[in-house]
Amino acid sequence: MTINKYLRVSKYSQTLLINQASLTREQNQQNVYKFGFGQSPFPVPQEIVKALANAAHRKEYMSVQGHLPLRQAIVDFHLQQEQKKWHSDNIIVGAGSKILLFCIMAAFEQAEILLPAPSWVSYAPQGKLAGHKVTWLTTEFNDHWQLTPEQLNDYCNKRDNPDIPLILVFNYPSNPTGQTYSAAQLSALATVMKKHNILVIADEIYSLLTFNNNYETLEHFYPEGCIVSSGLSKWCGAGGWRLGFIHIPPELSKLKETVIGVASETYSCAPAPIQIAATTAYNQLDLANEFLTKQRELLNSISQYCTEKLQAVGVNVHAAQGGFYIFPQFDRFTSKLMQRGITTSEQLTLTLMEETGVALLPGSAFGMPENSLTTRLAFVDFDGEQVFSKHPNDYSFDKVKQGIEQLCNWLKAL
Ligand code: PLP
Repeated sequence: MTINKYLRVSKYSQTLLINQASLTREQNQQNVYKFGFGQSPFPVPQEIVKALANAAHRKEYMSVQGHLPLRQAIVDFHLQQEQKKWHSDNIIVGAGSKILLFCIMAAFEQAEILLPAPSWVSYAPQGKLAGHKVTWLTTEFNDHWQLTPEQLNDYCNKRDNPDIPLILVFNYPSNPTGQTYSAAQLSALATVMKKHNILVIADEIYSLLTFNNNYETLEHFYPEGCIVSSGLSKWCGAGGWRLGFIHIPPELSKLKETVIGVASETYSCAPAPIQIAATTAYNQLDLANEFLTKQRELLNSISQYCTEKLQAVGVNVHAAQGGFYIFPQFDRFTSKLMQRGITTSEQLTLTLMEETGVALLPGSAFGMPENSLTTRLAFVDFDGEQVFSKHPNDYSFDKVKQGIEQLCNWLKAL
């Protein structure tokens, strides 16, 4: 039976290539600096792990929309943390926020998905799986890789079919760039979004890891058209627990019902024990604050370290303002790289892996043009548990430091 030609094209291969090269190096006992994969290095707090163990017997299907005490805990938590004025009726809990993003897209018979480039790897494949057109708007290093109101307005003015709903997926702090938006920037963008009636999915999964703890939200300027998504994966270090949620504003109640319908026909509900443990996580404000303060401080200092080292050898890179990532651009090395036959971000990341063991992801995986010499660097190749158990002055990020040194030496030797 030949099934291959009936399968969809998957970009997953790009990440797999890097993983394969890194496995080969490890088998040969060579160092690998894992800056490719961006999982939280921090352990889930013990109290929350215990809550999960105690809930292991919970075997029932829960409501598709999510366990009510959990939805209420999410509302209370985000009121305290971010002054969000939500109601539990408007929260939908899912097995990770990722599936919920897909459910929103799948709720539309026809839509256009608009993505700033660079954006997280899964939005475009999800948009296509849902049967929609996907459009990228490429951003610039000098704009901190941020979408500008002019760019958004220009695109909306020249859309082929302005009647088709336009869904912008808008993520800040950003994976892959680590950049976030100021209140003034969000306000200016919201004016354009309102004018063109854009539905925005504000992916705020990294919001609690904003380093200055002064997080601005688009929702404040555009409540009626803004769906917020978030979850436990990043701030609570619990990606594999698969617990996320979205808030859909009351103005979009019909959409909310449709999304719940899609959820019901796909994942049914998030796992019951996880929902119970998540209720504890969202109810423990003091615990969360202590955990968050430590993470922000650590992540900020590692980001600063990496950024300064890379800038010193001529790399264009902005320090992260939140999350786990920076987005180095190697334009100043274009001619030297070209002499070595490297003209795309994919060639750059493969050569780097082969020659130095430094694993980065190519900018093209995030929607950047093939020939843009950009990469994503996840600066979380360290053991968060060990780091937490030490005195703040004894934090050691040897692996990150060595990897950055390898990268800088390679560039200097070009
Ligand atoms: N959005 C962004 C930008 C992410 O980086 C991730 C996880 O890597 C997700 C969404 C998905 O998060 P979840 O674990 O809630 O599905």
